[in-house]
Amino acid sequence: THDIHIIGGGLAGSEAAWQLAQRGFKVRLSEMRGSGDMTPAHQTNGLAELVCSNSFRSDDDTKNAVGLLHHEMRRLDSLIMQAGEMARVPAGSAMAVDRDVFSAEVEKALAEHPNVEIARERIDALPSSGPTIVATGPLTAQALAESIVGATGQDRLAFFDAIAPIVHRDSIDMDICWIQSRWNKRTEASNAEGDYINCPMTKEQYLAFHQGLLDGEKTEFKEWEADTPYFDGCMPIEVMAARGVDTLRFGPMKPVGLDNPRDTTPEFPQGRWPYAVVQLRQDNKLGTLWNMVGFQTKLKHGAQVELFRTIPGLENAEFARLGGLHRNTFLNSPLVLDRQLRLKSAPHIRFAGQVTGCEGYVESAAIGLLAGIMAAAELAGRSWQALPRTTAFGALLAHITGDAEAETFQPMNVNFGLFPPLHEVGKKVRKEAYTSRAKQDLEAWLAKQGAVAA
Ligand code: FAD
Repeated sequence: THDIHIIGGGLAGSEAAWQLAQRGFKVRLSEMRGSGDMTPAHQTNGLAELVCSNSFRSDDDTKNAVGLLHHEMRRLDSLIMQAGEMARVPAGSAMAVDRDVFSAEVEKALAEHPNVEIARERIDALPSSGPTIVATGPLTAQALAESIVGATGQDRLAFFDAIAPIVHRDSIDMDICWIQSRWNKRTEASNAEGDYINCPMTKEQYLAFHQGLLDGEKTEFKEWEADTPYFDGCMPIEVMAARGVDTLRFGPMKPVGLDNPRDTTPEFPQGRWPYAVVQLRQDNKLGTLWNMVGFQTKLKHGAQVELFRTIPGLENAEFARLGGLHRNTFLNSPLVLDRQLRLKSAPHIRFAGQVTGCEGYVESAAIGLLAGIMAAAELAGRSWQALPRTTAFGALLAHITGDAEAETFQPMNVNFGLFPPLHEVGKKVRKEAYTSRAKQDLEAWLAKQGAVAA
């Protein structure tokens, strides 16, 4: 018998199991690897296997958002961070690990824990009752994915991501760009000025940019991703560009109905339409992050930065995340999960890890940690104090559970654009200001939250 069932022994499921077990709850952790099943990316039966790079990225908790998340996880006794420390290999200011040692340490801690039972089994349906955490990751097995779709409704679980680059609003040059919706159309949700930031291009700029898309180095699909469909509306920008020199000008880079106020003539006092435009749309409620509309891409990250900074107005763009296209099972969490990661239609089920629409080893483990301590509070019959938005935990959680735009929701890394902005602080010291505010607010929250989080 157990108090809670966790499905998936990856980064998130292992962390959630640890948090619950440490608080005295009996956990059944079901992992399909080791029972004859495998995902296309995993190679071992070990818990918390790192499927690709061996890096947890920056460990700098004073200037870096993922480094701050490391700090916050350590503060909450994270198993993933402890095992990472034991498996650590030299990597400058980054935290990298020996993947075999890391996985073995996670597995040992859980296998030896008196409150954890590890079951090597594949689960094919969401349990109809009993506290459950689903942490089956970006490659959730098919039958369970279908069961999730049954509980959330069609179109609420994606099987591929199609990520357009996201830019920090304060790095866009508004002396070149302007805000306007095409034909000044608006809805009830519209901003007064308009909903898009427009970057104008001349013919020469457009032709050079088009060539850059064709020439730029692309990432290959993995063998098991070869059947990735190009849905309407999420075709990679370079694939569209290859269809013809004007395809983009009639697609995402269409200039019609967009009057450039810096290009007026007596005939066009409002401004002329540019030859082509790049449009950005608000990506989070805070208004700090804007996505490049229609710019999902398989260009290599370096090539993206180089090419996208040739777009007028984006010369100094800082990217909160770059574009991509992968196989990736994830929920439309802003619509289907509540603020405590519970499925609105079946609140005995929590989700954790990459399937919630966060992205990255550290983020997945962090959301696993939160799902674990939220579930523990619920099992103990204690109320849950919302995490401050100013912490990395709180900022990431708020984004995926409601603050991201549901319509364009795509997986997200932790980054300072998710934090309530500190515009008044000078740019040079702003990162330090974010991290010191976060650390203070986490301590205050821990003091209030008491035993459940301790
Ligand atoms: P996982 O670690 O994948 O864990 C999910 C577990 O659930 C797996 O062990 C799986 O076997 C199990 N499972 C699935 N279905 C069932 C079922 N029905 N019943 C029982 N068990 C089941 N992030 C980075 O930070 N750096 C990278 O380099 C990186 N590279 C990636 C490369 C690939 C190919 C992919 C797909 C993702 C990559 N990611 C990377 C993203 C992400 O951080 C990792 O996928 C991370 O492992 C996600 O953690 P998770 O716990 O949510 O899922």
